Amino acid sequence: MELIVDQDLCISCGLCVEICPEVFDWNDEDKADVQVSELPEEEIDCSLEALEGCPVEAIQKK
Ligand code: SF4
Repeated sequence: MELIVDQDLCISCGLCVEICPEVFDWNDEDKADVQVSELPEEEIDCSLEALEGCPVEAIQKK
């Protein structure tokens, strides 16, 4: 599974970076971005939690 963060939607709330830091981190524009091309098995649960918790639905399946 691959995820993306829609940079136009992200409001930099920090939720995804906090709950799944191996997958999400800040980029140079201070928006969250996905750091891995393919999600490691052990990161899928927290990634989906971030996807569901993102207040603006910026995290999307590719
Ligand atoms: S949870 Fe959504 S809005 Fe918040 S930092 Fe992550 S992608 Fe951006």
